[in-house]
Amino acid sequence: MERTLSIVKPDGVSKNVIGEVIRRFESTGLKIRALKMLRLSKDDAKGFYIVHKERPFYEDLTDFMSSGPVVVMVIEGENAISKVRELMGATNPKNAVPGTIRADFASDVEKNIVHGSDSSESASTEIPYFFSAMEIC
Ligand code: UDP
Ligand code: MG
Repeated sequence: MERTLSIVKPDGVSKNVIGEVIRRFESTGLKIRALKMLRLSKDDAKGFYIVHKERPFYEDLTDFMSSGPVVVMVIEGENAISKVRELMGATNPKNAVPGTIRADFASDVEKNIVHGSDSSESASTEIPYFFSAMEIC
C-alpha cells in the first residue's frame, strides 16, 4: 500500500472537473483517504513548490496556484504514486497520452488541472504539508 498527494488545481476547480478527476482515481480502485478544498496563499504555493524555486516558471506557477481554490487529497492503493501519475498524463498536455486527465482537460503546460506526487519521498513531504495524521482516514 502506498499513499500519494493529489491536487485539483485552480483551473480544474473553475472548469468543474473536481468530480471527474476523483472519479478517474476511484475507478481504478484507488481510495480517497483525505480530502479538502482550500485557497493557497502565495507563500503556501511557494512552500509547496519549493523544489522548483530556481526554475523560470516558479513565479507564474505560484501565482496560478494561489489564484483560486484547490482540492487537495490523499490517495491510497497499490502503486498509488505511479497510478495517479499515469492517470494525470504528461506535464505538458501536448505530450499527454489521449484519455489522460491532462490530455482531456488541460489548456497548457502551467494550467494542467492536476498535481500528483512524483515519488515516495515527495509524497512523504507533500501529504503532511496539507494533512495532519488525524485528518487521514
Ligand atoms: N510548469 C510550468 N512550466 C513548465 C513546467 C512545469 O508552468 O515548463 C508547472 C506545471 O503546472 C507543473 C508544475 O509546474 O505541473 C510542476 O512541474 P513538474 O515538472 O513537477 O510537473 P508535474 O510533476 O506536475 O508533472
Ligand atoms: Mg512534479
